[in-house]
Amino acid sequence: MSVRVRFAPSPTGFLHVGGLRTALYNYLFAKHHKGRFVLRIEDTDRTRLVENAVENLIGSLHWAGIDYDEGPGKGGDYGPYIQSERLDIYKEYSEMLHEKGAAYYAFDTAEEIEEMRKREPSEQFTKYDRTSMKNELTLGEEETRKLIESGSSYVLRLKVPGNTIVVFDDLIRGKVEVNTAEIDDQVLMKSDGYPTYHLANVVDDHLMKITQVIRGEEWLPSTPKHILLYEAFGWDKPKFAHLPLLLNPDKTKLSKRQGSVAVEDFAKEGYFNDAFVNFIALLGWNPSSDREIYSIEELIDSFDIEKVNKGGAVFDRAKLEWMNFQYLKQKPSSELVELLFPILESKAMTGFAKDYLENVINLFRERIKFIKELPETAGYMFHSPGDYEKDYLDKHWRENTIEILKPLLEKYRQENDFSHTNLYELTKTYIEGLGMKMKEIIHPIRLMITGKSAGAGMFETMEVLGKQECIKRIEEFIKLKESKMI
Ligand code: GLU
Repeated sequence: MSVRVRFAPSPTGFLHVGGLRTALYNYLFAKHHKGRFVLRIEDTDRTRLVENAVENLIGSLHWAGIDYDEGPGKGGDYGPYIQSERLDIYKEYSEMLHEKGAAYYAFDTAEEIEEMRKREPSEQFTKYDRTSMKNELTLGEEETRKLIESGSSYVLRLKVPGNTIVVFDDLIRGKVEVNTAEIDDQVLMKSDGYPTYHLANVVDDHLMKITQVIRGEEWLPSTPKHILLYEAFGWDKPKFAHLPLLLNPDKTKLSKRQGSVAVEDFAKEGYFNDAFVNFIALLGWNPSSDREIYSIEELIDSFDIEKVNKGGAVFDRAKLEWMNFQYLKQKPSSELVELLFPILESKAMTGFAKDYLENVINLFRERIKFIKELPETAGYMFHSPGDYEKDYLDKHWRENTIEILKPLLEKYRQENDFSHTNLYELTKTYIEGLGMKMKEIIHPIRLMITGKSAGAGMFETMEVLGKQECIKRIEEFIKLKESKMI
C-alpha cells in the first residue's frame, strides 16, 4: 500500500515550531517512502477561528520549503481538504455510527453538565455519567425523537464500551494500552452541527486513505478514542506515531514566555529557511551521532520514524543561532545578496552593484549573525563614515599624523593595484622607511575610512571599497581635521 500521510493543523493564527516539526517529519516520511503528503485544515472548532490563519500557515510551510502534494489550493482526489467544507460527510458518518449503536444523542445543557461534575468531583476529570443524564439511553427512543423534532439542542456521544483494554502499537512508543474505564463518552457531533476533532479526524484519515498518523505527543490521549471509532466503523486503522514534546532548556513544555514559538517570527528575525529546517529536523532525531548539518535530501534519505526519540526534545535557541551561523558561513554570496537587496532598499541605500555587495558580504559574513545586520554593522561600506569614534580618534591621532599621511595618500593615488596584499606591502614599506611601526598608521587609516575602532581587516576593507572611495574618504577626513571640524 502506498504511503499517505498528512499534516492536520487547526488554524489558530500562526504555525507553531512544534507544528512545523510535525509537518516536516510527515514530509520527510512521505518523501522517503515515495508517498504522498496531504495538508488538511482542521477548522471545526468555530470558537477558535482566526482570520487569515490558513494563508499564514501555508505561507510558513512554503517558507520552510515543505510542499504538500494534496491540500487547499492544490486539490487532489480526496478533497475538500478543509474540514468546514466537509460537514455533510461528518453528518452522514455520525448517523452511521448512531445506527450501529456506537453513539447516542444527549440533551444536557452546559449547566447540567456542570452540576454533574460538581456531584462527582474528581482529581482528573469526571466522565459523562450516561446512566443519570439526559440522553437517548435514559430517555428512550420515542422521547429522543420527540426532543429532536421539537428542535431541542443535542450532541452525539461515543458509547465507550465498558472495561475493555484498547491496545495499539505506536511506531515510536511501542505498545500502548488504555482501559476504557479511563475514556469519556466523547462528544462527536456538537450542537452547532459541527463535528468535534475526534470524529472529523478519524473520518478524514479513513476517507483520505492515510496510512500513518504522525503527530505530536499531546494527541496520544486521544488515540484510544480514535481506535474505538475505527472499530465502531469497522475500518482498518492507520499506524500511529506520536512525536516527543518540545521543551524549554529547563525541561518545561516549550512556551512563548521563553522566546518566540511562531515560525513566522524566526523568518522575520532573519533565520535562513534551510538552517531553520535543519535545526527543526533534529528535534527528536538525528541520522548520525557525529553530525548536525544536513541538506533536505540527506534528511529525506535517512529519515526513519522508528528512530525518533520518545523523550522530550529541547528547543535550544543557542544551537539554532549556531546552526544559522554555519549556513551563513557556507552560503554562496550570490544567494545572500538577494536577501540583502530588499534590506538595503528599505533603508534607501540603493545603487550598489551586485559584485560590490557580494564582496561586502564576504568581508563581513563571519562578523554578523544575520544579513539584516549589514546596514548597521557595515554601515561605512554603504556611505562615508559621517562621524568618527571620539575615543579612538583621541587615542591614535598625533600632532604629526597628517604630515605622515600626506605622502602615503599620494602613493595610494598613484597606485593602481588596490589589492589588500599590495596595499599592505606599500603601506608597510612606507611606514617602516620612516622608522615607525604599522600600528601607528593602521589605526588612523581605519578611523578615516570607517570611523570605527573595529571592523574587518583594514586592507581587505580598502580593497572592497576601492581606490576612488578610499582616497575620497582620506581627503574628506584631512579636510575636516585641518579645518578643525573634528
Ligand atoms: N488538528 C489537530 C492539531 O491541531 C491535529 C492532530 C492530529 O494530527 O491528529 O494538531
